[in-house]
Amino acid sequence: MSHRELSNNKLIIELFREYYHKAHLKLPEDFVLREFAIQPFNSSTYIRHLSFQKIDDLASFIEKNTPKHLYYSSARYENPGLKDMESKKWLGADLVFDIDADHIPGCTEVKIWLCPNGHNGTGDTSTCPVCGAKTKKISIIDDECLVKGLDQLLRLADILIEDFGFNKNDINVYFSGHRGFHLHVHLDDKLARMGSEERREIVDYVLGIGLKMESLKLVNEIRGRSRRLALIPRINDYGWRRRISKSLLEINIDDMLKNYIIGEVKPSSSTIMNKIENIVPEVIELSKVFIDEKVTIDTKRLVRIPFSLNGKTGLIVKEIDINKLSIFSPSLESLSPFRGIAKFTPDISLKNIKILGRKISLEKHKTHTLELGLAVYLELKGIGKIIRIQR
Ligand SMILES: [Zn+2]
Repeated sequence: MSHRELSNNKLIIELFREYYHKAHLKLPEDFVLREFAIQPFNSSTYIRHLSFQKIDDLASFIEKNTPKHLYYSSARYENPGLKDMESKKWLGADLVFDIDADHIPGCTEVKIWLCPNGHNGTGDTSTCPVCGAKTKKISIIDDECLVKGLDQLLRLADILIEDFGFNKNDINVYFSGHRGFHLHVHLDDKLARMGSEERREIVDYVLGIGLKMESLKLVNEIRGRSRRLALIPRINDYGWRRRISKSLLEINIDDMLKNYIIGEVKPSSSTIMNKIENIVPEVIELSKVFIDEKVTIDTKRLVRIPFSLNGKTGLIVKEIDINKLSIFSPSLESLSPFRGIAKFTPDISLKNIKILGRKISLEKHKTHTLELGLAVYLELKGIGKIIRIQR
């Protein structure tokens, strides 16, 4: 690591240190039962199996070891600080969901590659086309994807509350600090003991895996001489039929059908079903919620601590009011804690990239004046270096 790199890295560490000095991390009430873990700067390994009896102890640990990433376990343990997983004695875990732009169909990212010999370009390649060296790949998510992710989050919350009957007050949602959202359901002691198999059932339901078409009664069936007419899903239905009826209301269907779905009128004819038969596959696809299944079935997941910083971006893992999900708008002002401006030198040129409501163009090796939050984001992404901070 060159001297310049090291000294600039120090600027970011100092910014993180200042943030944590004042930050109000949100910890679960049972934090003494949780394992904590940090990934420090300039290290690819985690410091794991930490446990704290008092919030102050955690604060002074963070004061001494500025984290690049900071986590606690979704699991509760009798002995969270022990290294051996068996001896920790698992007591149960929150139900956690991760919605990542990676998993959302139609989400686009700007892909950039950099090679150690100074070549770079846009696209998704693991070897440098100029010199054949192994590249470092960087992706910048489009703002549109965050909006799509938020829509997925709304659907997920709706399923958990309406279909599973979880209490809204036990559900917390967070921006991940990068390109997605986390949803935590605090479970009572009994439900918290659900294993991976049970959690897998929930995942399947959300993702629509193993969905039995015939049980949805969405298409006319002819069996021998009898003809069973399909039933149009209505908003008062339960489960997947309710989800499908909601999706139908989101797409362009005629008013008579719409009114029927919301329960205002009686069907005027049995042929009304023909109006939706063709779009059933599309509507089912639209009703799926694209969660990261690995995260939910894992009963010992490390999750980012709310209001910590995501070291990939310098953005806050921010709580979103579940009642205001639809009005949450991801912006640099609301998600970056860093104010002021910075002189920033990029290693590559970029044109018209949208990041958190800003549209930027960068010219390789030229010094640019950028908002500090944006400069931190770009440096952590590996796109260049902050030379100076002005506040
Ligand atoms: Zn190269």
